[in-house]
Amino acid sequence: MKFSEYNFTPEIIKNLEMMGFKKPTDIQYKSIPAIVKGEDLLAIAQTGTGKTAAFAIPIINYIQRKKKNNKENVIRALVMVPTRELAQQIAEVFNKLGKGTKVKTLALYGGVEQESQIDRLLSGVDVLVTTPGRMFDLHNQEYVNLDKVNTLVLDEADHMLDLGFIKDIEDVIARMPKMKQTLFFSATINKKIKKIAYDLIRSNAIRIQIAPKDPVSRNIKHSVAFIKMDDKRFFLERLIKENTDKKILVFVRTKVRAERVKKAMDRVEVVSETIHGDKEQKARTSVMGKFRTGEIKILIATDVSARGIDIANVDYVVNYDMPDVAENYVHRIGRTGRGRLKGDAVSFCAKEEKPLLKEIEDFVGKPIKVLELQQNEYRKTIDFSEDTNLSIKELMGQIEDIDKKVKRKKK
Ligand code: ADP
Ligand code: MG
Repeated sequence: MKFSEYNFTPEIIKNLEMMGFKKPTDIQYKSIPAIVKGEDLLAIAQTGTGKTAAFAIPIINYIQRKKKNNKENVIRALVMVPTRELAQQIAEVFNKLGKGTKVKTLALYGGVEQESQIDRLLSGVDVLVTTPGRMFDLHNQEYVNLDKVNTLVLDEADHMLDLGFIKDIEDVIARMPKMKQTLFFSATINKKIKKIAYDLIRSNAIRIQIAPKDPVSRNIKHSVAFIKMDDKRFFLERLIKENTDKKILVFVRTKVRAERVKKAMDRVEVVSETIHGDKEQKARTSVMGKFRTGEIKILIATDVSARGIDIANVDYVVNYDMPDVAENYVHRIGRTGRGRLKGDAVSFCAKEEKPLLKEIEDFVGKPIKVLELQQNEYRKTIDFSEDTNLSIKELMGQIEDIDKKVKRKKK
């Protein structure tokens, strides 16, 4: 079925065409009719399969029609997300899909001055895409009115319902009308979280799950290489220098590690940027923008960028450090291979990280392909680096030469 055959407003149909969306993806095909009917929904589908539009299209369609009779701008949809960049990105999708519909969307998040956000709220907003913190601040100051919310969306739902956020979510729900629609979207879910979700809505939510067995997108080729912690930078350097035209997203465990890896790349004249929670929001937004346009080819990130970020042409995801949480493996590598594009991911696993690898394999339900690094290949990578201490390198070379001579003599 084509989008043009759906009963959406002409503006939405036109915007879909402009965006190059001809047919719904599987998750869109399955969830849109249920959302239109007003059902609660738990929708699970792999990364990069168009979950954003799956909820954005029916929400805009509903609000645009509603506004024909009632022109007031009140918040009718609240989309809650875990990170600021995701709020920006999803608001952007709403704005594109909602062009010409008069449905106004605002991204609301912390780390920036609230004045301009307040101005926008006062001028009237129909859809609020937000991280919990800033929304509470402005709700307490009575700039955010949730009395008329018709649809609540939790994107990255399993994460939003996890320990760190659940109190906030319960609090939000308490501030909203009882009669409303709740939509949960994610690429991953577990039993415990599923139960929390159902308990929150106390109704028979429809469950839609696409490809439940393997949470990793079909478009991603992913493998693991066993590399010593101290050698990882040489392998990253080589990977980057052998793929100079490629856009590469590198995940590390901590903010400090992100800066350290960047410094190591600086030393070997690889231009990169970092994004993590210790950076000013302005810098975060700017870096993300430059990575989007390709002005920056190498981005070193913490898990703050693991979920939801949709940059179409990320060629490679590198897990420089293994993720601490198995779910995040799926989300991190899911930053590549989006839509119809293919992507590659490789994880650098040190000996001490092998238990994490085991957890990931249990989570994805199968072993991850191992990249066999022959001893000479490993050596070559370290030699390849501009950062290797030359004298050590020479020494190693000499030792090898001696080894060879000894072997030859023995023969
Ligand atoms: P998810 O939330 O499932 O990870 P997104 O909503 O970020 O995925 O969408 C992934 C990509 O697919 C986006 O770049 C989006 O523009 C594109 N996309 C979404 N729906 C369609 C469609 N029906 N046809 C073509 N491309 C689409
Ligand atoms: Mg998403």
